[in-house]
Amino acid sequence: MSVAGSLLLLPGDGIGPEVMRQVRRVIEWLGKRRGIEFKVEEGLVGGCSIDAHGVPLTDETMARALAVDAVLLAAVGGPKWDALGFDKRPEAGLLRLRKEMELFANLRPATVFDALVDASTLKPEVVRGLDIMIVRELTGGVYFGEPRGISTLPNGERRGINTQIYDTHEIHRVARIAFELARKRGNTVCSVEKGNVMESGLLWRQEVIALHKAEYADVTLTHMLADACSMQLVRNPKQFDVIVTDNLFGDMLSDEAAMLTGSIGMLPSASLGAADAQGKRKALYEPVHGSAPDIAGRDIANPIAMMLSFAMALRWSFDLQTEAELLEQAVENVLKTGMRTGDIMQPGMAKCSTSVMADTILREMDKLVAA
Ligand code: NAD
Repeated sequence: MSVAGSLLLLPGDGIGPEVMRQVRRVIEWLGKRRGIEFKVEEGLVGGCSIDAHGVPLTDETMARALAVDAVLLAAVGGPKWDALGFDKRPEAGLLRLRKEMELFANLRPATVFDALVDASTLKPEVVRGLDIMIVRELTGGVYFGEPRGISTLPNGERRGINTQIYDTHEIHRVARIAFELARKRGNTVCSVEKGNVMESGLLWRQEVIALHKAEYADVTLTHMLADACSMQLVRNPKQFDVIVTDNLFGDMLSDEAAMLTGSIGMLPSASLGAADAQGKRKALYEPVHGSAPDIAGRDIANPIAMMLSFAMALRWSFDLQTEAELLEQAVENVLKTGMRTGDIMQPGMAKCSTSVMADTILREMDKLVAA
């Protein structure tokens, strides 16, 4: 038995614990069937932490998140905590994790499984075979820039201010991740900004070009304005391989790309920090979806986004490519058999629960390793 590393599981709220339970089963499977063990801890984040400790993330859980090789988070939030102020809400726990782990790059794959090509609102020929990776800058830009706030002017009007700021090193470190990723995929990066109307966008473009010239000239680099990119994503999304963009545009474009795939219950994500001397990065893996309070506690949520987030962790934090592919392949094979949770249900398919979907995926993994 080899110990692959340490994991902190943060199931959170709503459907979080239900989908995280299925990842625990994959972890057990890896131990039993592949001799790969993880040191697994579990903690509270979001509403459940507010209920237990009065804060969305305790200092102790934060310290544990900083100490492990990877954090796996399901989802936070729900109507119970909606009335709380910004800094006391469940989401504040997630923001604190991102900030203190210095997770500056958010990786969002938008992949269309062949079996789900009809789930997209776009025509099958537009999305079949789609495989995009959006790299969004996560700790800078207009969501964090100062000055910010709402003030009252002498004439009694109110003014809201946010500031878009990027420094060279912030642009370089996220672009570097995009270039490295592209080298393992289609070798093409499209850098997206609004350099035609924003100085910060112009700087973004200039710095991406400088880094490309200095270190990544072998990768094909293109540039696109953010408004044009949002159009191209629905017109001809398969033209993209890796997209790198700032925090604000990345927020929108990654949601748009997510919708191309048809279901939010299918989409994983990874957030990465800087590499240490050993090349290890702080990393947080989470599904794109939220806590889905409307379906929580009924064993009907789709566990696939959470399971694929774990596949990303296997690949990026533990260098377990074979096991990541095994899990991804099992998901694809199960979808081909017609097994569906409610969110991706189509006529003629077999509707199943969260736990039955995971049972079937695990059985498929058994079959794949036996083959
Ligand atoms: P949501 O993603 O939770 O749900 C949107 C819709 O998609 C709902 O109809 C839901 O039932 C469905 N859905 C989501 N995940 C699903 C899954 N795995 N399987 C099947 N159906 C699924 O977004 P929302 O409704 O806007 O937000 C609900 C709560 O989640 C709010 O409190 C919000 O703040 C929070 N939220 C948290 C995160 C996060 O933790 N990262 C992200 C988004 C929203």
